[in-house]
Amino acid sequence: MNVNPTKVIAEMIKHGVLATINQQIDYETAAIAAIGLGYEVTEAKLEVEEDLGELLTAEQEAADTSKTSLRPPVVTIMGHVDHGKTKLLDTIRSADVIATEAGGITQHIGAYQVELQGKKITFLDTPGHEAFTAMRARGAQVTDIVVLVVAADDGVMPQTLEALSHAKAANVPIVVAINKMDREEANPERVMTQLSEQGLVPTQWGGDTEYIKVSARANTGIQDLLETILLVAELGNLQSSPQRRATGTIVEAEMDKNRGPIATVLIGNGTLNLRDYVVAGATWGRVRAMQDDKGRKLRKAEPSTPAEILGLSGVPQAGDTLVVAPDENTAKEIADQRARIRRFEEAAQSIKSVNLDDLFAQIQAGKVKELRLILKADVQGSLEAIAQTLQKLTNDDVKVSILHRGTGGITESDVALAVASSAIIVGFNVRPDAAAKRAADKNRIEIRFYDIIYKLSEDIELAMKGLLEPTFHDVTDGYAEVRQVFRLPKNEQAAGLIVTEGRAARNAQVRLLRNGAVIYDGTVSALKRFKDDVRDVAQGYECGISLTNFNDFQEGDTLEFYRKEQIAVK
Ligand code: GDP
Repeated sequence: MNVNPTKVIAEMIKHGVLATINQQIDYETAAIAAIGLGYEVTEAKLEVEEDLGELLTAEQEAADTSKTSLRPPVVTIMGHVDHGKTKLLDTIRSADVIATEAGGITQHIGAYQVELQGKKITFLDTPGHEAFTAMRARGAQVTDIVVLVVAADDGVMPQTLEALSHAKAANVPIVVAINKMDREEANPERVMTQLSEQGLVPTQWGGDTEYIKVSARANTGIQDLLETILLVAELGNLQSSPQRRATGTIVEAEMDKNRGPIATVLIGNGTLNLRDYVVAGATWGRVRAMQDDKGRKLRKAEPSTPAEILGLSGVPQAGDTLVVAPDENTAKEIADQRARIRRFEEAAQSIKSVNLDDLFAQIQAGKVKELRLILKADVQGSLEAIAQTLQKLTNDDVKVSILHRGTGGITESDVALAVASSAIIVGFNVRPDAAAKRAADKNRIEIRFYDIIYKLSEDIELAMKGLLEPTFHDVTDGYAEVRQVFRLPKNEQAAGLIVTEGRAARNAQVRLLRNGAVIYDGTVSALKRFKDDVRDVAQGYECGISLTNFNDFQEGDTLEFYRKEQIAVK
C-alpha cells in the first residue's frame, strides 16, 4: 500500500492492537488496518465467526409460532425542543390507573406501561429522535409507533422536520399530537397545513394521518391520544409468542454501587423468567431479580414489557439485544465470543456504509438499489433546487432518495441518521461541527462538500455510472474558536483564537464557519503566539491569526484548518 509503517501502527492502535514494526499480525487485523487506511480489501474475512447469540435469537424467532397473541405497542415521543415531549410523557404516566393503584411509586427505568380499557401501551421514556436513531443504528428497532409532538402555538420547527425524517426513514407509523391547546395563540390548523406539506395529510382532510389535539399541562385530549395509539397498533397487528424463551432490547443500563449492573430490557418476544440465563450484548448472567416501572417485583415479563433486571456480569449498551440462553455455559460462551467480535465491529461498519467512490461497484454487485442522501445547505433556496436536480437522476438501476433535508451545519443527528440508514451526507456551503466530524470519521460516513449545484449533480451522476474520478478529500487538522477581534490599520482585522481541537497550522487551508455555514475559505496570512510567528499551535493554546483577504471576524466564529489529500487509488 506504500503507507508509512507508523501510520499502520497508529491505525492498529485505534482498533486496540499494539504491534511493533516487525511483528506478525493475523489476516483479520491486517484487513481492518487496511480498510481504516482507506483501502478496499476484496477478500475480507471479517466475519471470522458467526455471532452465536444471533444464531440463538434467530432460532428462537423461528421456533413455534402457532400460539400467537397480540402484544402492546411500543411508542416513542418525538418533536422540537420545548414542544412538551417530557410533559406529555409525565401526564400520560400520572393519569394511568395501574400506577395510582400500585401506590404511585413510579420508577424511572427507561420505559413505562399504561393501561386503557384493559389494553396496554408501552412508552419509551427517552423522548427525541437521537436516542431512537442511535438504537436503530445498533440494529434495534423497538418502536412501533411514533408520536410527533408539535406545539400548537409554535407550529412546525426544524427539529419537528428532523424527527419526521427519522421516523420516515425507520418506516414507523406516525400519530401527530398537537400540544399546548390551552394556549390562546394555539393554531392547530396551521400545524396540519404545515405537516400536510410533508406528506402527513390529516384523516379529516382525506389523508391517513391521525392528528390529536392535546394539552399536556391541562391534561386534555390524553385519552383520545391513547385510544388513537391503540387503533393504529391494531392495524399493525403486532403478534408475539409469549410461551417462547425471551428476546429483547436493552433500553438503559448502569452500574449501581450496591447492586451491581442494572439494565432495563424491553421484551420483544417470548417471556423472560426469573432465574433465566441471559446474554445481553457482550455481558451475560442469571436474572436474580426483576421489577417493573411501578417498582413491583416480577417473576416474569411478557412481550413489550419493560423490566429492570439484576444479575448481569457487566453493563450492556443501550440498543444491545438480550436473548435467553438454554444454560449457563451457552450464555457465557456467547458473551465471551461477543466481546471478541466487538473488536471487529467498527471495521465491519465500513462494509455497510456507502460511499460515492464505490457506488457503481455496489450497484453492480446488487448491493445498492437506492442512493440515500442527507442534504444540508446554508439556505432554503439551494436546498429545494438541489433536491429537485438530484431526484431527476433516478434511473432504472438506482433510485436517488433524499432522507432528510435541512438548513444549517451538519450535526451528530445527521450522522446518526446516515449510519442507521446507510446514507451519504451532502453539505452545500455548510460543514459539520467537531462532534459530527468525529462521529462521521468513527462510523466511516462519507460527507461530500459542494458549493456549486452543477458540480454536485455531476458527481452523483458520474458516481452512479462508475465514472467518478478519484478526488481530493479534505483532511481536517483542527478547529479553533474566535475569542476576540482586533482592528489593524487599513481596515484590516486579526482574531484572537483558542485551538479547541487538533492543531492550527500556518500552511493549512482555512474555512471560517458561522453557525455551520461556510463564510470564508482561503489561507492563513499570519499565525502568531504573542509577538512571534509560529508554524503550529496545539490544542488548548491561544494564538492570533489573520486570513488572506478577510476582515469580517466575529466572536464565536469557528475556524477549521484542513488539507487536501488525494484519496487512495484503489
Ligand atoms: P420538551 O423539550 O419537548 O421535552 O418540552 P417540555 O416537556 O420540557 O415542555 C417545555 C415547556 O412547555 C415546559 O415549560 C412545559 O411546562 C410547557 N408545556 C408542555 N406542555 C404544555 C401544554 O400543553 N400547555 C402549556 N401551556 N405548556 C406546556
